[in-house]
Amino acid sequence: MNTATAEVSAPNVHRVPCANLPALTAALDKLIRRAAKIGCPLPTYTVGEPYPVEFKRRNAMDEVVKYLVLHADVVVGGPAPKFDGWTLAAVLEPLGEENMVAMVPGVTVTLPASYAVATGACDHCKAHRNRLQTFALAHDDGRTVQVGRQCLRDFLGHESPETLARYAELLVLFGATVSGAEEDDFGGGGGREPDCFALDAYLPWVASSIRADGWCSRTKARDEGGMATSDDAMDRMRRQGYWRDHTPPAPTDGDMAKAAAAIEWAATLDTSAEPVGSYLANVGIVGRAGYTTRKSLGIAASILGAHERATAQVAERAEQRKSVHFGTIGKRETFTFTVLRVLPIETQYGVSYIVLMKDDAGNVAKWKASGGTMAGSDDFDRGVRVTGKCTVKEHTSYKEIAQTVLTRCAFEIVKPAIENTHEMAVAS
Ligand SMILES: [Zn+2]
Repeated sequence: MNTATAEVSAPNVHRVPCANLPALTAALDKLIRRAAKIGCPLPTYTVGEPYPVEFKRRNAMDEVVKYLVLHADVVVGGPAPKFDGWTLAAVLEPLGEENMVAMVPGVTVTLPASYAVATGACDHCKAHRNRLQTFALAHDDGRTVQVGRQCLRDFLGHESPETLARYAELLVLFGATVSGAEEDDFGGGGGREPDCFALDAYLPWVASSIRADGWCSRTKARDEGGMATSDDAMDRMRRQGYWRDHTPPAPTDGDMAKAAAAIEWAATLDTSAEPVGSYLANVGIVGRAGYTTRKSLGIAASILGAHERATAQVAERAEQRKSVHFGTIGKRETFTFTVLRVLPIETQYGVSYIVLMKDDAGNVAKWKASGGTMAGSDDFDRGVRVTGKCTVKEHTSYKEIAQTVLTRCAFEIVKPAIENTHEMAVAS
């Protein structure tokens, strides 16, 4: 008799791609109902919280694409069938000249290596037959035996060893089902089809797509046709769609740097004051996760632009902090400004405007303008340069920025906004 031992154990924890979970739980619930029917203790399973696992795959251009797939740990439970100190540890079935050893989940005994080769053997009756199945039993004291199905009753003295055997089979099937769900092609689930992507892999492609074609949101793509930047970047990265037959230029060092800075910004963004579900709150969630699912792809792609706007805002505020008060209160003088912002305000007398401007030294001026003034005209917008007489009303500050408040402004436009001239040039 072969006395060498083989370490055989059935891991209780299985890492299952989340896409396979619906098919898996349906299959397991079916097995649990079957266990109830044959009067067995019910096997159990629990599904843990999803977490991303990183994979690498080669695309059509034979380049490595890093992606993540959400997985969840599925833990299989249920008492191993046991009687009088003996535990049903494994179901052995001949395959060629050897036995396939299917451990009952959760049982971790060391079985003699002979069990893997002794097809149809029974330690109880010592007979060797063409059995389709034998069982490995392990005693609490460390003994193990291999027993044929027919001898289970004699050996265990159990009233219904058949139930024990069927329960063992069912537990093995239960465990095998969960193991199977770890694979790609389980029950029509997506398996490890990429369903989420690391930001550091994806955002450089977003930067390169924006550089080539400008930004196009998913909403704009849907309403006006065309390709959303988020989808184009995905196609570039994975060489699919248009980019299956066209080689996209690889992201430049500049693209990489932009992506890295935006990721860092999003990951450390303080969103504690942002309402749940708001744009910035979601940017923070994607940033902290470090990866994006297909659902959050639009938000993920927009992080580059959001970072750029936030940076510009910080720079603008820093610039405005240099602002000092100018003019003499009550005095009417001629000033030249560049318009920073025009905010329409609904009042009981109709629309009025708060106009923020800066002079050439960067000093900030505020004009509370009524609807009938130039502030209400279409030409009066951010970037417009104006000059004219104004009365200095007061010197105030807003968020540490010195503001000179003006009234009775009589401006004329000396230079239209840069954006406007550009648009007119394109139109004509
Ligand atoms: Zn026997």
